[in-house]
Amino acid sequence: MLLETWTKSEFAQSAGHPRRARDCGLVVSALLGTVSPGCNQESPEAWRNAPLIVPDSTLPDDDDSWKQPPKLKPGTGKAFRDGVVTTSEPEAASAGAGVLAGGGNAFDAAAAVMFMLNVVEPQSSGIGGGGFVIFHLAESNETLTLNCRERAPADTTADMFVSQPDFAQRSASGYAVGVPGTVLCAATLLDNWGTITLDEALQPAIAAATDGIVVSTRLAADVLLPKLSNELAPPNNPVKPAYDVARAVFRPNGSPLQAGDLLVQPELAHTLQLIADGGTEAFYRCDHDAGIAEAILATQLVTRTDTPQGVGRMTCADLESYHVTIGAPVSRPYRGYEVASMGPPSSGGVALLQILAMLEGFPIGDSGAGFGLGQVSSLNVMLEAMRLAFADRARWLGDQDCLGCPDLPIAGLLADAYLAERAALIQVGQRRTGITAGDPRPFDPDFIAEGASLGPVSFAHSDPGGDTSHVTIIDADGNIVAFTNSIEATWGTGLMVPGYGFLLNNQLTDFNQTPAFNPNPMSFNPGANDAAPGKRPRSSMAPTLVTLEGDPVAAYGSPGGATIINSVLNVTLNLIDHRLTLQQSVVAPRVSLTTASDAGVAEREAGFDPQVLGALGALGYAFVQVATIGAVQAIVTIPTSKKQYGAADSRRIGGVATPGKVK
Ligand code: GLU
Repeated sequence: MLLETWTKSEFAQSAGHPRRARDCGLVVSALLGTVSPGCNQESPEAWRNAPLIVPDSTLPDDDDSWKQPPKLKPGTGKAFRDGVVTTSEPEAASAGAGVLAGGGNAFDAAAAVMFMLNVVEPQSSGIGGGGFVIFHLAESNETLTLNCRERAPADTTADMFVSQPDFAQRSASGYAVGVPGTVLCAATLLDNWGTITLDEALQPAIAAATDGIVVSTRLAADVLLPKLSNELAPPNNPVKPAYDVARAVFRPNGSPLQAGDLLVQPELAHTLQLIADGGTEAFYRCDHDAGIAEAILATQLVTRTDTPQGVGRMTCADLESYHVTIGAPVSRPYRGYEVASMGPPSSGGVALLQILAMLEGFPIGDSGAGFGLGQVSSLNVMLEAMRLAFADRARWLGDQDCLGCPDLPIAGLLADAYLAERAALIQVGQRRTGITAGDPRPFDPDFIAEGASLGPVSFAHSDPGGDTSHVTIIDADGNIVAFTNSIEATWGTGLMVPGYGFLLNNQLTDFNQTPAFNPNPMSFNPGANDAAPGKRPRSSMAPTLVTLEGDPVAAYGSPGGATIINSVLNVTLNLIDHRLTLQQSVVAPRVSLTTASDAGVAEREAGFDPQVLGALGALGYAFVQVATIGAVQAIVTIPTSKKQYGAADSRRIGGVATPGKVK
């Protein structure tokens, strides 16, 4: 097997160690050999000059009459051909490439990487969490989605989080745990489209958990987060032992793991082996000898001492009735391409497509028309489109696939006529005040216009987040799998299942903390994201796939809570409007606004022109500079030549791996 892992080899040459932290707490990109744009105060365009380490390309283009000339001719130069895996962690990329090298396809590799991430990025994703997959089947030329989002237990009530306004308390208590989806997710990919067994897909992760991994700078930094310090005192605190379980792994004997340490996870290895031996039943059935399900249920009965009502409500029946769903993505055309992404219960795809539709009338890529990359007009209309989409998201998006879930006007939200009305609210050179949700029901064939007057929507729920894992894989046959997996906050609940070595998610905190349902026609609110039995909390995850004339040309996704939508948007505009290369599109500084509120403050990374920011400030926009927004893992492929390109985001460690050679 020839396994070429760019990140490791390049980094070993340049830095002598696979991971090295920068002062700002970020890492030097092994991929690009340069600093993260969020990490420095360079001149606005410095990121463009990043040395090119891996093959790079622009999107193929069916109509470039209005666009600037591509920086590279699509499909020329070095490329991958035997498959590419891009993730935030080099070991996970290597595991995926290893599966491809052994003759596996993208689905096999995806399952292996899902499990491997639990070993190398345990604070972000794993078998105690869930997520979403978008995938393309080369043979049938179909693009589908797999919804592996956590579900709420049958005993869930809409008001269960009302009495605890503190996110830190809610998110570390057992009632925040949703029924996990990752194990069934991987098994479903393998059963339907894979060529290897669940046992085989688990082997790289079992080996890494048994032999140990080198602790990364990112993992070492996360080990210091408060989530692992819950209930430390007093010594006789009755729930302390439950919170000690994860501490014992990541702060052994009270000493936080350091970058470069070896982390061996025998309990996790044992659990993965139990799943390898017993299949999904070993995880989801209470009467299974593996004991995993019973242990999950016991663990979620733990709650913070200040949140006595926070005891988990999950039962054997909830675990045994857990299911994933295969479906169609939401999609819309954008400037000759078709953009497909994840529909409900994620808000990611619908919001992304709404923003793109609202922006399509503006010449985002045309600097001659006063727009262009990082210019005032472009950022102005982007921010306004984000605000309009997030207003709709707050009222209309959530899960509609449970008994008692409201029907939602998704078709209306994506209807041309509705989006034209919303786009008309954007005026170049203005920042609108008083933005609220629109009413898409008259534009949706499944809804009857009731003439309701919609009152103002609450923007209080901000979806704090920032962790999660994203992986994009293409194989030699052109099958593509992009998945975003999460245990929600970094370290999830912080509750590790004793004896089994994996963390439980806190995904149910993505529900509205206070119910929003209001049947009054004059201030109607469907309560789209109110907690309910069997419901999946609204997500922002947006694994996305772009096609051109029916052929896939790009796929990508990101972590980052609600900012996921804007990270994916930034990259989409960079690729399609600004004609940047894949690497440049991923590295370029990002901006994100996740609320329509008049008081909303946009996040931005370093690297924007101060004069541009000043002009936007004069329009009324406020910004806060943040180190990083998201971490996009992406591939591009050229339909005619079948050439493949990958980019991992320098905002995390980043890994791009191929089973073959660069050709
Ligand atoms: N819970 C988040 C979501 O589903 C993902 C976690 C994160 O990336 O912060 O949107």
